[in-house]
Amino acid sequence: MKKSRNQLQRNDYSPEVTLQQDLITYLRHHHGSMCRQWFDDIEPIGVVNGVLRLLVNEPVQLRYLQRVCTEQFSEAAQAITGRLLSVHFVGSEEDRVPSATDGPSDSSAEGDEGNPLFSEEMLLSPDYSFENFVVGPGNRLAHAAAMAVAEHPGRAYNPIFIHGGVGLGKTHLLQAMCQSILNKQPSTKICYTSCSNFMDWFIDAVKAGRMNEFRSRFRTTDILVIDDIHFLAKREQTQEEFFHTFNTLYQSGRQIILSSDAPPNDIPDLEERLVSRFNCGLVARVDKPCFETRVSILQSKAELQRLELPAEVPAYVAAKVDSNVRELEGALTRVRGYAMASGQPITLQLAKSALSDDGMTSGQTNGQPSIQSIIDTVTQYYDIKLTDLLSKRRHKSIALPRQVCMWLARRHTRFSLEEIGGYFGGRDHTTVMHAVRQISSKRENDPSLANDVERIERSLLDETIV
Ligand code: ADP
Ligand code: MG
Repeated sequence: MKKSRNQLQRNDYSPEVTLQQDLITYLRHHHGSMCRQWFDDIEPIGVVNGVLRLLVNEPVQLRYLQRVCTEQFSEAAQAITGRLLSVHFVGSEEDRVPSATDGPSDSSAEGDEGNPLFSEEMLLSPDYSFENFVVGPGNRLAHAAAMAVAEHPGRAYNPIFIHGGVGLGKTHLLQAMCQSILNKQPSTKICYTSCSNFMDWFIDAVKAGRMNEFRSRFRTTDILVIDDIHFLAKREQTQEEFFHTFNTLYQSGRQIILSSDAPPNDIPDLEERLVSRFNCGLVARVDKPCFETRVSILQSKAELQRLELPAEVPAYVAAKVDSNVRELEGALTRVRGYAMASGQPITLQLAKSALSDDGMTSGQTNGQPSIQSIIDTVTQYYDIKLTDLLSKRRHKSIALPRQVCMWLARRHTRFSLEEIGGYFGGRDHTTVMHAVRQISSKRENDPSLANDVERIERSLLDETIV
């Protein structure tokens, strides 16, 4: 319905439609990996006081755009109009006429603004929906269970516990459940967070003497979703708190949704009573996708990004990358980056060169270190595992070396932010940009880090000069 309205307007050649198309064209060109099919539904509704207002009907999309895409849209609006515009995404519920209090900052009505204890609430990605989830033999059970939970929260399986290796779609399924539940019942209170956030908030709440607030936050929610619950290992105090949270919610029939890298019994140092709670609902595992599923996933991701792929490309990439879906996406990003950089359409030949070993993985290009050699040097220096480095773990012991890698890659290779992000497990370019800024500023203020980075850099460059 939304599409047809756009279509109608498009035939009218109204200035809004041209602007809409120009924005998308600019973004596709300059921030290709960010663009999604559904950007077509964003509707410009006018400029007031230097602010271009863009209407977004879907709440999850709205929030996502506000948090992640404002900078790029503003850049696009400025480039197209030649005016110093900023962009403001507004939802259909909001007053479409700007008010005195309206501004470019943020209009989302989050209840937590001004509450620093819970400032880092996790954002749902519109990409992670059931529609965009490809079902195959490795995830069929987990997917079916997730659908059942989304259909009857608190009644189908409680808790639902999804486990499996890195990059196999656990977070995707968790978010799909959240989105599906919110679509059906927008007023549902969902508390969705990573286990690390839960632990950090808990510690902060204890320190600040704000446990009541913490408890009411987690114990009064309709649905509690905690990603990567295995991080509770060894955290006795947090386990204790979580146990009571769990019981309170469970007893009142509210849905608990968990993911982990291991089944409950294999999480080291997890209290027995928690293990048994986790096992009392449905435990489902996600396995690596088979070749056919990998091909379908690539096709689906390409479609989502409006990327035209000749049929043999997904097959080639799927045959070459069989580790996990995140790597698969990283490979696709790399192929797209190559096509953009060379101004050529994507062909099998191009995909082959983009993914060839001397493209990014080994050796050096023109005296530059390769990304692989950067990773080798950094993992050796900090004594961490490659899998951790490429994972989504946000613990400081992993996050810092990962940021150092990105900073080095930016400084010593010619790869774009997007390509670097793609290499580090499909992270987007804003993550890379953030990492680069963080390390640049830390090098100035933290002599010990500056020293580490300098030593890593020296050893990397010594290696490179043959
Ligand atoms: P995990 O949480 O298990 O480490 P994620 O859920 O973050 O993995 O998945 C990594 C990436 O792979 C995400 O971009 C996700 O959309 C994608 N992905 C994983 N499995 C599927 C699938 N079956 N269909 C489509 N995309 C998938
Ligand atoms: Mg995850």
